[in-house]
Amino acid sequence: MNPLLETAALPELAVPPKRVVGRIDRRVGLWHAPAVIAENNFIYKSLSNWAFNVAVGCSHACRFCYVPSVATIKQAAKLAEYGVEDPDVEWGDYVLLRPWDEDKFLASLRSAEHTPRAQLKPDGNRAVIYCSTTDPYQVIRHPDPVRQRELSAHARTLVRRSLELIRDHSTLNVRILTRSPLARADFDLFHSFGRRLVFGMSLPTVRNDLSRVYEPKAPAPSQRLATLRAAKEAGLYVYVAVAPTYPECDEADLRATLAAVAELEPITIFHEPINIRAENVARIEAQARALGVQLKTEVFATRESWQDYAVQALRTVSRLAKELGIEQHLHLWPDKSLGSQALADRMTNPRQYLKRLEHWWHRVSEWPRANSTEK
Ligand code: SF4
Repeated sequence: MNPLLETAALPELAVPPKRVVGRIDRRVGLWHAPAVIAENNFIYKSLSNWAFNVAVGCSHACRFCYVPSVATIKQAAKLAEYGVEDPDVEWGDYVLLRPWDEDKFLASLRSAEHTPRAQLKPDGNRAVIYCSTTDPYQVIRHPDPVRQRELSAHARTLVRRSLELIRDHSTLNVRILTRSPLARADFDLFHSFGRRLVFGMSLPTVRNDLSRVYEPKAPAPSQRLATLRAAKEAGLYVYVAVAPTYPECDEADLRATLAAVAELEPITIFHEPINIRAENVARIEAQARALGVQLKTEVFATRESWQDYAVQALRTVSRLAKELGIEQHLHLWPDKSLGSQALADRMTNPRQYLKRLEHWWHRVSEWPRANSTEK
């Protein structure tokens, strides 16, 4: 038997060790449902047609993350069995890795592979994203070092074994999206996909202090940039999500971030301004105060103030991308609410404004083609 398969099954993890007790421990462990490829619900993102999510929960704890409010909240009853009382408030504290069931994974892979192309949204590039509701390379934190090692090994197996099966048993593409330098360990595997895999990271800012406020447990932007550079040097096709940028990302910061990104010659640069729910603003403010960072939370005071900020941020990034000669790779993600007639009527040329939004909403992101520069 392939040694990877033996590791992948990890039968001893089905029952948590007896020494692991208490609320915190139960929130980091194994989920009941296995990891499979599933259709995703992206609208106007052009990221993928499917997603492979290794866990329920994410240890990066990003304050703006939409996942707890739209996805894990629906699993609140089940999460309560794992000691999670409030999936939204406790976001970042629970990571429940999905078990590995090779038969179920292969069934989901066959189903995706045989989906008629006419049924697929063209902007998905026939790709599977790793991941859409968690990070494939997050650090698993558990108070028991033995259990932590077991879970970390399991997470690694989930990613590697599933990627090998996609590579060898399908024609699907793969999009890796992470904030973690741990991805470096798999660069060799990524490279073996050739043009079928693109590697990307979220890099909203190059300011480490802002990152500590908004993405408190994620690796620093400087580490992500170093990882992206290493990916480029390793010959991978790289893209960057300059997203979500924050109200505190002034023109100097946006320029510095985009200039650093431009050096990577990415195939696509996604961008969107942050959009956080009112109930999260107080939490972010408290975190910022503790770190001595001044925030511009007035942006979130009303719907109109946020829209004004968002339109301005999108325009600034467009202008800077032109200045830096990377505008052909820019892919903006304007929120659907920016297409309201009331907002358009406040623009100098409402028709042109709405036309631009339609352009971004329907743009198909780049995918390496046969005539791309060979890596
Ligand atoms: S890395 Fe992604 S999934 Fe994880 S908390 Fe941040 S935004 Fe959410």
